[in-house]
Amino acid sequence: MGDARIVILGAGPTGLGAAYRLQELGYRDWDIYEADDHVGGLASSYVDDAGFTWDLGGHVMFSHYEYFDRLVDKLLGEDHSVKMREAWVWMCDRYLPYPFQNNIRYLPKEAVWECVQGLLEIQDQSQFAPPANFHELNLQKMGKGIVKYFMEPYNFKVWAHHPTLMNTRWIGERVSMVDLEKVLRNVILEEDNKSWGPNNTFKFPLRGGTGGLYTPFVPYIKDHLHLSTRAERIDTARKRVTFADGTTTDYDILISTIALDRVVDMIPGVPAEVHGAAKRLDYSGSYFVGIGVKGRIRAPSAGCTTRRRPAPSTG
Ligand SMILES: Cc1cc2nc3c(=O)[nH]c(=O)nc-3n(C[C@H](O)[C@H](O)[C@H](O)COP(=O)(O)OP(=O)(O)OC[C@H]3O[C@@H](n4cnc5c(N)ncnc54)[C@H](O)[C@@H]3O)c2cc1C
Repeated sequence: MGDARIVILGAGPTGLGAAYRLQELGYRDWDIYEADDHVGGLASSYVDDAGFTWDLGGHVMFSHYEYFDRLVDKLLGEDHSVKMREAWVWMCDRYLPYPFQNNIRYLPKEAVWECVQGLLEIQDQSQFAPPANFHELNLQKMGKGIVKYFMEPYNFKVWAHHPTLMNTRWIGERVSMVDLEKVLRNVILEEDNKSWGPNNTFKFPLRGGTGGLYTPFVPYIKDHLHLSTRAERIDTARKRVTFADGTTTDYDILISTIALDRVVDMIPGVPAEVHGAAKRLDYSGSYFVGIGVKGRIRAPSAGCTTRRRPAPSTG
């Protein structure tokens, strides 16, 4: 693809990552087009008239691929703090440390027993066929009790869809699988286990909120970046993108990071079954309510480790 012209649509994390890599590999003939007037997509942050910075929902860095970590170090430099994830689950009139499945000892005793009993029932994994969906996976790996008390209500709350409607391919390291010995040890010896997970500590930009991780991409790609340029039509036969202002660009290779159901609408001649499939894709939306507090904050010094009090959330 040495001489190919590459067009990227969208300058969210995916488009920025692709652009950065093309630049790093020495490609010259490429451009990235973004409908908004800033980069970052759903991981952006906005500053309002009162000077508050708002993230589009809380963002925690999960990924720990070596390349990704190195890139984060390069982009943020010293301009970050290291946060310790400390999340708590409000249940049965009390807080449990996250991940729930490692800290069931905080539940009422009958509920602890239900969870342990469920775990005992699944110890023989040979009884199970491959899970057909996320709910089945949870039942097979965590047992009925943990699913009843936590996995089912929590995941419905997070994704706004029942776990039976979700597949299991996205999970990776995101869900803490259960180790019966560890669970029993924590229950009997009354020990906590809060530190699990790829995001138990994570870097956060010192300035600019979550979006502060994405704006530092701009200097690397600015010669190829076109903001406020919304793609409206993709002619896949002629390999041409038409933008809202009537201008066009041709491509040999197109990397679209636009939501699938929308991009399908932009391509004339897409077969009806593809249209139908795109329309049937499920997704959830969110409303964010921010509360600004007037006062002075003590700016954390570069590279410091901060630790927050438990927040009343189920995150
Ligand atoms: C509330 C919330 C919490 C989240 N928490 C986390 C978290 O803790 N950790 C984590 O890793 N991830 C988290 N995510 C997910 C993360 O934000 C997304 O995975 C990421 O933003 C996806 O990046 P993307 O570039 O693929 O898509 P997007 O961020 O959606 O970017 C797509 C870009 O395409 C642009 N675009 C759309 N249409 C057009 C068009 N016609 N022409 C040109 N440009 C167009 C958009 O303006 C946008 O900038 C969270 C997401 C939300 C909403």
